[in-house]
Amino acid sequence: MVEGYCVTCKQKGVKIKNPVISKTSRGGFIAKGICSKCNKTKVCAMMSKDNAEKAIKSGDAKKGY
Ligand SMILES: [Zn+2]
Repeated sequence: MVEGYCVTCKQKGVKIKNPVISKTSRGGFIAKGICSKCNKTKVCAMMSKDNAEKAIKSGDAKKGY
């Protein structure tokens, strides 16, 4: 499960719906998707390489890089 901060819900740890993980220019990993609580706000979350690969492998997130 991939979680991030939603600015609409003002809540940390909201589940990101259909997250896609991409790489940043600095070699980090970032997951982007829609907040599963309000279903409208884009939520991003920085991820470690380990967590990003784990989420992709388990099918929680799509690989976008
Ligand atoms: Zn939200």
